[in-house]
Amino acid sequence: MAATDFDLFVIGGGSGGVRAARIAAGHGARVAIAECDRFGGTCVIRGCVPKKLLVYASRFGDEFEDAAGFGWTLGSTPTFDWATLIANKDREIKRLEQIYEGNLKAKGVTTLATRAALDGPGRVKLADGSHVTARTILIATGGHPTRYGDIPGAGHIVTSNEIFELKALPKRIVVCGGGYIAVEFASIFAGLGVETTLIHRREKVLRGFDEDLRDALMEALAARGIRLMMSEAITGIAQDGVCFNVALRSGGTVKTDLVLSAIGRAPSTGNLGLETVGIKTGPRGEILVDSFSQSTVSGIYAVGDVTDRVNLTPIAIREGHAFADTVFGNKPTQVDHTLVPTGVFTTPELATVGLSEQAAREFGHELDLYKARFRPMRNTVSGRNERTLMKLVVDRGTQRVLGCHVLGPDAAEIVQMAAIALQLRATKADFDATVALHPSAAEELMTLREKWIPT
Ligand code: FAD
Repeated sequence: MAATDFDLFVIGGGSGGVRAARIAAGHGARVAIAECDRFGGTCVIRGCVPKKLLVYASRFGDEFEDAAGFGWTLGSTPTFDWATLIANKDREIKRLEQIYEGNLKAKGVTTLATRAALDGPGRVKLADGSHVTARTILIATGGHPTRYGDIPGAGHIVTSNEIFELKALPKRIVVCGGGYIAVEFASIFAGLGVETTLIHRREKVLRGFDEDLRDALMEALAARGIRLMMSEAITGIAQDGVCFNVALRSGGTVKTDLVLSAIGRAPSTGNLGLETVGIKTGPRGEILVDSFSQSTVSGIYAVGDVTDRVNLTPIAIREGHAFADTVFGNKPTQVDHTLVPTGVFTTPELATVGLSEQAAREFGHELDLYKARFRPMRNTVSGRNERTLMKLVVDRGTQRVLGCHVLGPDAAEIVQMAAIALQLRATKADFDATVALHPSAAEELMTLREKWIPT
């Protein structure tokens, strides 16, 4: 075999690419990785991490309000400064970015700050026109926000890419979309005191999640003052001085200072030179791969959002790790894409692992359902009128817990732990046999005794 510059060339320095590069280098491979923007990728630079920091910021209002019931008197009205939050967020993101690149270098990976594309078998073309050769190539270029359709004024719309860099907090915002990114941003801005409208073309938000949680979340968001306009779409945006008039499909307009579109994401496969090697893509442009993340072309692999399997950071990381173990560690590893716990960081928070009631029925399970809706202890004294929802979906025959769904404070922390039980194929009896940790919200999952009969 002809000598190559590297054993592995990774295109994209996000969650999946960085993990793959580090692990492959640890297995002794000569590795290079190209990143055209910032190391860390979507999750670190403009996704999970900055979003969670904004979520924290958005929840202090609740703390201030709830404190009164616990005897606290806060002096002057608390004020919020967006510029301080963004500057502190930027500092933390910079720190993480440096850690990501530093960890690569520490493993001996060659890092290249450039765009890269395939240019024939085993050849990668860099932005300056030079070429690099590699025995194996990994595509980990992630995804990008889908732009709103061809409507008048679409140029005024911002996406999740730009939202983290806003110079000032708007007074009013219209958020378009109904997926987790849309509801999270609606919740963030509402929590920061912004008059928030959520416009979604379907009847409900969070398609694919358990119906009870979808309903309860929408109820909670509305109760928190978010204007929900479902089965609605925007048909145009007209600038009106410093603000915008957003035209609605049903007639009428909404006045706003900012329009954020979070209507979906698409795999980033444009200008990647896929055609130079004949890699096959699916209907959404995603790179088609087998269970070891190999594309339809031998020696070229793809992991993470660019493959559009389960578009979450821990999955991109697992796929990158499994790829490196398989190809360079002599340890063939497949990633299990079932039982992926996931959180939606609205306020209240929502998290889920396993099957929704509806999905379980579609798979043919006869079900026992357990559900509790209760006021968390903290709300009894604070006076906050918001309820937690917990639901277990149990297979009637085997009594195996198929799904665990929580809406309420710390839902993500609770469900992460419940995920271990589901991974170990716990039954309802195993949950019941687990001693409750009292007083906690999570203990409710151990004490769900009454079967819930849907009406
Ligand atoms: P990415 O992290 O997107 O990395 C791809 C990298 O490739 C990018 O840095 C890009 O600049 C680079 N690149 C692209 N093309 C080229 C090229 N030709 N040459 C060189 N470099 C290139 N997931 C969760 O698990 N939890 C969350 O709470 C969560 N919140 C999110 C919030 C938002 C607003 C968004 C947008 C996403 C969120 N995600 C979350 C999803 C998560 O960020 C992604 O699933 C994850 O980042 C995918 O990793 P990846 O390695 O596939 O791609």
